[in-house]
Order: sequence, then C-alpha cells, then structure tokens
Amino acid sequence: MTFHFPFDNSYAALPETFFARVAPTPVPAPRLIKLNRPLAAQLGLDADWLASPEGAAVLAGAQLPDGAASIAMAYAGHQFGQFVPQLGDGRAILLGEVIDKDGVRRDIQLKGSGRTPFSRMGDGRAGLGPVLREYIVSEAMAALGVPTTRSLAAVLTGEQVIRDPIQPGAVLTRVASSHIRVGTFQFFAARGDRDAVQALADHVIARHYPEAAQAEAPYLALLEGVIARQAELIARWMMLGFIHGVMNTDNCSIAGETIDYGPCAFMDRFDPKTVYSSIDQMGRYAYGNQPPIALWNLTRLAECLVPLLAADDDKGVEIAQTALGGFAEHFNSAYLARLAAKLGLSTVQADDPQLCQDFMAAMARGRADFTLAFRRLSDAAADPSDLCAVQALFADPAGFDEWAVRWQQRIAAEPLKSVDRQAAMRAVNPVYIPRNHLVEAVIRAAVDRDDFAPFDELLAVTANPFRELPEFERYAQPPQPHEEVLQTFCGT
Ligand code: AMP
Ligand code: MG
Repeated sequence: MTFHFPFDNSYAALPETFFARVAPTPVPAPRLIKLNRPLAAQLGLDADWLASPEGAAVLAGAQLPDGAASIAMAYAGHQFGQFVPQLGDGRAILLGEVIDKDGVRRDIQLKGSGRTPFSRMGDGRAGLGPVLREYIVSEAMAALGVPTTRSLAAVLTGEQVIRDPIQPGAVLTRVASSHIRVGTFQFFAARGDRDAVQALADHVIARHYPEAAQAEAPYLALLEGVIARQAELIARWMMLGFIHGVMNTDNCSIAGETIDYGPCAFMDRFDPKTVYSSIDQMGRYAYGNQPPIALWNLTRLAECLVPLLAADDDKGVEIAQTALGGFAEHFNSAYLARLAAKLGLSTVQADDPQLCQDFMAAMARGRADFTLAFRRLSDAAADPSDLCAVQALFADPAGFDEWAVRWQQRIAAEPLKSVDRQAAMRAVNPVYIPRNHLVEAVIRAAVDRDDFAPFDELLAVTANPFRELPEFERYAQPPQPHEEVLQTFCGT
C-alpha cells in the first residue's frame, strides 16, 4: 500500500500507559457519504484518493493506512458530576497526526470504528444519525468561527447498529487540534501518577501552549491558558444560543475546541433554562449553566495540576485558586465584547453592559427566537422601520419597544455610518444555523430513506452562515409548532 497520510505521530510516543494499541474492526461494505474536500486539502491529503474505494475503506476502518499510530486514548472523567476513573476511546481510534498547511498539528481519528479495550459494554460503533449530527454541527461551528473539531468524512459501514431506532452504522473521521481532554489529566491524577501528569502537561505545552514554556511558571501558564481558551469558547457558544448538552470533563478539550457533539443543539426561542439532552434530567448542562460548569470542569483540571504548581500542596492549591479566579473576568469580558458587537456597538460607553444585559433579559421574557432577533436587529440598524420585524418576535412587544428606544439613542452616538454598522452586525449575527428541526429532518431522510440530498443542502447552507440568500429562506425560519424538537439523544 502506498503512503497516503503524511503521519507525524507524537502522542503514540508517550508512555504505553497513555493508550492501547488497537486496530479498527473491519466492516463489510464501506460506502462514502461525504468527504470534506477543502479540509482534506488543508491537511495535505489527496481528496481524490480518499474518495476512491481504497480511500473509503480506510475511512471506514476496513483497512489501516501505512504509518498509522492506531491507538485508543486513555482518559477518565466526571460524568454528570460522578467520577469515572476509566473511560477512554471506547469506539474511536486515533489514526495519527499530520501537520496541516498552516503548520498546525492535527489528529485524525475514526469515530465508530469498533471495539477497543475501553469499550466496556459498548459495541464500539456509531449510528448514522449521530454521525450526521456531529458532521453538520461541527462544520457549522467552524463556519461560524467557533474553535471546534472538524469532520473530514462520513462513511457507511454496511452493518446495522442496535439503537433506538435500529439504524445503519457509520464512521466519522474527526479532525482535532488534539483529543486531549480534562479527563486525560484526571486519568493519571486519579492513579497518583505524578510523572504521567507531568509528561502529559509537557506534551500539551509543546503542542498547544508553546508560550507557556517560556513563562516563569510553565504549568501555571498552562492552567491559565486553558482557562482563558475555555472562557472564550463558552462565550462564543452563549452568543450563538448553542447548547453542548454533555459538558462532562471527558468532553472538555484542553486545546479549547468544542468536542464530542452528542445531543447538542442551537436554541430557537430564548430561554436560559433550555435543555435538550434526553439524559440531562437535572438540567446540569442547561444553556445558562454552561459558564459555571466550564469553571467546574477547569477546577477538576486544576486539581490534577496542583502537584506541578508548587512543592507544597497547600501552596499549589492557593496558586490554582487564584488562576481559577481569573475565569470570570475572562468570560465576562469575552461575553460582553461579543454581545456589544452583535448589538452594533463599536465604541464603549459606561452604560453599555446594562444595555447589553437588558437585551438578553428582554429576549428571555419575550421568548424571542435567538438567531432571528439579532439578525433582524442588524437589518434595523440601517432602517428603523425594520424594528417592527424584531418586535414581532417578542411575546411582549412592549418590553422590546422600551429597550429599542434606548438602543436607538445609543447607536446615534456611534461614529459608524448606519450601513457600515449594519454590515458589521450582519458579519457577527448569522442568518443560518443548523436548527434542530432541520438537523432532525436531514437525519430522518438519510436513515429512513437513504436520501442524503437534504444533508448536502443543509451543509451547503450553513457553510455560509452570514450571507442571506432568498432561495434558502426556509432555512432561516424557526420551526413550526409541529416541527419543534424538544429532546435530543446521544444515541451511543
Ligand atoms: P460520549 O458519550 O460519546 O462522550 O462517550 C462517553 C464514553 O463512552 C467514552 O469513553 C466513549 O468511548 C464510550 N462510548 C460511547 N459510545 C460507545 C459505544 N457505542 N461503544 C463503546 N464505547 C462507547
Ligand atoms: Mg465523550
């Protein structure tokens, strides 16, 4: 076999306790559903070869490419607050790492590629529905400018998987800056393996936080770096109405990317208490809880790093607490800066935070559609008569009107011309997000009727989220009452 992946594997050179060496389980009939050609090019891969039967066999895990590391990574994690000392890649295999066109090291992983020593009771497989959901939402997030894992390909395996409902098996090829999670640190910390925690921290610094290596206290700089990236990430989620759904520590990326798209969804009508995930009965991972949960997860990371922060544990805890104290400031400033930009404010005035918060509060009271409210406000930035269309989204129009008067006064004090303000707002307020009812319709067509045309179209629409096109009008609309999806399932 010729060498089709320019692998440059570093994780597989770490101690053997970090992973299990295991090959994907062959599947009977690989069939390519989708190949992300621009991403393949970015990774320096030959897209035409990947789309060939030989390439599809590799993407389905039926054949191992030359030079692959082929490992399942070990990790632990807190799931809904409960610590599980061993999770690990139960249905994923890291093929290896490549250096992309920008010089960035990226993992290439098969998800749904068969059992591993970490599979516990699972079958090691993924269903077509969840694979399509992850593909659509991760690619939409990338187009929206949110740090995220990417989707390189989706293939059918030719097998059925036992889920509710029984459905075709599929494999997603996932690309990530790395698959190292808070739970990866927890795996070693829980075993009291200080050397392993340190080796992992050194690997992460070299790979994701090279500036920390130069700092006076590199492990503190690492912790601060992860805190800053997570704060920025969650602020971006909040500003899109995105709900991850399962923010367990094993689904919290050290590189600061959105990872492990399960029962995730974008909100339609705004309510901070919204939960979609069928397994989140307590609302732990509700929209409004995401910032404090991120801090909770980072606190678990900090606990793992305490022995590296100081010779004495009490001192280490004190240092960690100070670093964690920085989360709120990072988050609040990222959140407010994004919210101000979404509302068309390019300068800063003393009352802006209040004006921003009051818009969120008015949206919550009025149960306004999150995405449309910001988008229509962008339209109204150039033409005040468009304010009616924003107001129409609010269940209590008076609440919006009161706010809109203040907003108009405030933007009158802005230096930008109104058309420029409108353009700036449209560039940060998407018109197309993969709304839950659209994702569900795509999955139904694919799973029930082997029809992938709706999947292709939704991908095409959400690839350009900020540019409105008349022919895609229906993709901008909230669900009709009968289309509303109230729960999402991980389907694992
Ligand atoms: P997730 O809910 O996908 O974040 O996965 C949580 C844990 O369960 C991870 O250790 C996964 O590898 C494992 N897991 C999830 N689904 C399966 C499956 N079908 N077979 C084996 N392990 C699985
Ligand atoms: Mg996970």
